Amino acid sequence: MATQIDAIRTAILEGAPAEDIAALPLPESYRAAVVRADEQEMFAGLASDEKDPRKSVHVDDVALPELAPDEAYVAIMASSINFNTVWTSIFEPLPTFGFLQRLAKESEWAKRHDQPFHQIGSDASGVVLRVGSAVRNWKPGDLVTVHSNYVDDQDPSAHDDSMLATNQRIWGFESNYGGLAEIALAKANQLMPKPAHLTWEEAAVNPLCNSTSYRMIVSPNGSGMHQGQRVLVWGAAGGIGAYAVQYVLNGGGIPIGVVSSPDKVELLHELGCEHVIDRKAEDYKFWKDEHTQDPGEWRRLGKKIRELSGDDPDIVFEHPGRSTMGASVFVTKRGGMIITCAATSGFTIEYDNRYLWMMLKTLKGCHYANYREAWEANRLVCDGKIHPVMSKVFPFDETGEAAYQVHHNQHEGKLGILALAPEEGLGVTDPEMRERLLPKITLFRRHS
Ligand code: NAP
Repeated sequence: MATQIDAIRTAILEGAPAEDIAALPLPESYRAAVVRADEQEMFAGLASDEKDPRKSVHVDDVALPELAPDEAYVAIMASSINFNTVWTSIFEPLPTFGFLQRLAKESEWAKRHDQPFHQIGSDASGVVLRVGSAVRNWKPGDLVTVHSNYVDDQDPSAHDDSMLATNQRIWGFESNYGGLAEIALAKANQLMPKPAHLTWEEAAVNPLCNSTSYRMIVSPNGSGMHQGQRVLVWGAAGGIGAYAVQYVLNGGGIPIGVVSSPDKVELLHELGCEHVIDRKAEDYKFWKDEHTQDPGEWRRLGKKIRELSGDDPDIVFEHPGRSTMGASVFVTKRGGMIITCAATSGFTIEYDNRYLWMMLKTLKGCHYANYREAWEANRLVCDGKIHPVMSKVFPFDETGEAAYQVHHNQHEGKLGILALAPEEGLGVTDPEMRERLLPKITLFRRHS
């Protein structure tokens, strides 16, 4: 029996006009990738890499929440895995239910977020189904991507750089009803136009990682890279790293990418990154044991960077954290900047502060992107200047498996998830532009 969800999918696939989309009945429930509150202790006592997202991520029926005046229901055609999907699914560093409970205290509408399930996902592409009464710039039928800066625009602290807002959150991580679902709830100020030349899944993988790298590399809120600057990019074939490399190249900088396999070296060369270091082949051992770092190894990395690129990096794009921060602070050029947005390998960081202060380096924290930055990053994708780095696509029911692969660093770039889209390759409305850019759009997909 055809359901209301089937009717929504069919209308979108057939390109139904806006008034038909607006008239579609909404379902009482839909399928969503969730973690469950009563399972948040399921991995207690296990090491991080033994915690298996395939066990904790479920595809459950979720009741359609009520729509607030400043929100839209978005029919999600595709989404993607982010590292925060991994964090949520292994309940590290904290179970995300605490975030939902804290959000729920903020307002009547926010109470909806405190549920015994967490609908996860911080990326999406899809179609607006309905908008709340206060929404001005979007309407049913609009093709959109969704960025994940979730801010309260009535809070004064949100009105300079909204990433500085006291109650800034990441959608689908610190809020409920995120993008790994057939229907998501997004604030109107999270919506952006879908790039016309990309498929649903190619469009879905960009918002979170692309916006993060835009702020870190391009924005004055990040490193504000200038042309000619050298940028060391850790994890340069991973999610944020592969967008960072593109921004460095677009801005006239010189990327030095670090990866961990010959395949990724080749991929980066194809992306246009001339200088690549295979950290596995070089066998860097920045830590002699759990407590002691080896400055000789930092020096060996610095020498390699100079040999390859002629000088020390002006900027280091940091996110592995504990394993690499000592080396990152050491190799950065006098007066340069280490910009960090994460600590995948451990957030208690150690580095030799003498190399920071004596050489006038800056260590700067950076987190996601404000709406303006996310919009600019999305515009560059729409204009064909930045390309998706999607290497694989998974059916919705395999969301847990995809998160497992990201958890174990078995992927390149980004992993897409099909939600309402029945297969890959749909959703393109500018085939000419796509044809022109095809080798760049599909680089990571061809490589996988
Ligand atoms: P990803 O796709 O898994 O890529 C990370 C890359 O880092 C991997 O490809 C790996 O590359 C490299 N790496 C992993 N462990 C390493 C280690 N110990 N030493 C050196 N390199 C290592 O993840 P992502 O999406 O790029 O995200 C990276 C981190 O940034 C995550 O912790 C994520 O939560 C965070 N993040 C933060 C924000 C924010 O707004 N603050 C936004 C996006 C992501 P090789 O093995 O090839 O070297």
